[in-house]
Amino acid sequence: MRAVGLHEDVIPVTTRVFATACVLVRPEGEAFCIDSPVFPDELEILPAIATQAGFEVVGLLATHADWDHLLARYSFPDAPLGAAESSAARLVNEPGRAQLKLREFDDELYVTRPGPLSLPGPQRLDVPGFIDVGSASIELHPADGHTVDGMALWIPWASVLVVGDYLSPVEIPMISEGGSVSAYLATLRRLEPLVSEAEWVVPGHGGPIDGTRALAILREDRAYLEALPDAPLPLARRTKEQRRIHGENLKRL
Ligand SMILES: [Zn+2]
Repeated sequence: MRAVGLHEDVIPVTTRVFATACVLVRPEGEAFCIDSPVFPDELEILPAIATQAGFEVVGLLATHADWDHLLARYSFPDAPLGAAESSAARLVNEPGRAQLKLREFDDELYVTRPGPLSLPGPQRLDVPGFIDVGSASIELHPADGHTVDGMALWIPWASVLVVGDYLSPVEIPMISEGGSVSAYLATLRRLEPLVSEAEWVVPGHGGPIDGTRALAILREDRAYLEALPDAPLPLARRTKEQRRIHGENLKRL
C-alpha cells in the first residue's frame, strides 16, 4: 500500500489490489476517509497512517456503492458513513450485496477478515452539494454512468479532485450494471472544468495523476465512449482485462 501527501490536508492511499484509491482529507481539524483500501492488513494500518499524519477521522465517505469502496468501517468502526443520495438508495435497494461481493472476492483469494462488514444506513448527502467543516468546504458533484450512483469530491483549497471510478489511467470506462454511456458522458462533461482546474486528480483505480494527464485521459475516455460499439481501446489500456471489460460494455449498449 502506498501513501503520498498531495497537500498537507490530502493523503491518497493506493491499495495493492485493483490499485484502489482511498483518500484521507482534513478540512479544518476534522478528517474524513473517502473510499477504502481492500486487504485486511491495509485496513488495519490505515488508522495509524491517519493518526501519524495528524488526521483525526470522524467520518467516512464513499464515492459510490461498489463493495471495494465501502470497506473503511473495518478501519474506523465507529465513524458514520456519508454517501450521495443515489448511493444510499442503492445500499437500501441491494441489501447484503456489498457483503456478498466481498465474500466472493475473499473466497477467491483465500482472504480472512476479522468479522463481517457492517454497513449501517449511510447518511444521505445532497449532490450537488457541500460538506462544510468550519470555513472549509468540500464540493460534491454527481458522478453516475459507471454505475447508477456516485459523486465526485472537489477539494478546492488543495486543488484535488476525487472522482470515483472515472479517469483511471489503468482501466477503460466501465459501464457496470445500472450505468449508461449517456450518463457517463454527462459526468465527463461535468468533471471537465474541475479537471482543468485540478492540480491532482485521484481516480478510483490507478493512483493519483496530475491534472494535465487526467484531462488527456478524459478526452480518451470520451472518444472511446462516443465511438462505441466499434471503439478502439485507448492506447495505454489494451490489456486482456481491458478487452474483457470492453466486451462487458458492449453487452450494456
Ligand atoms: Zn471501483
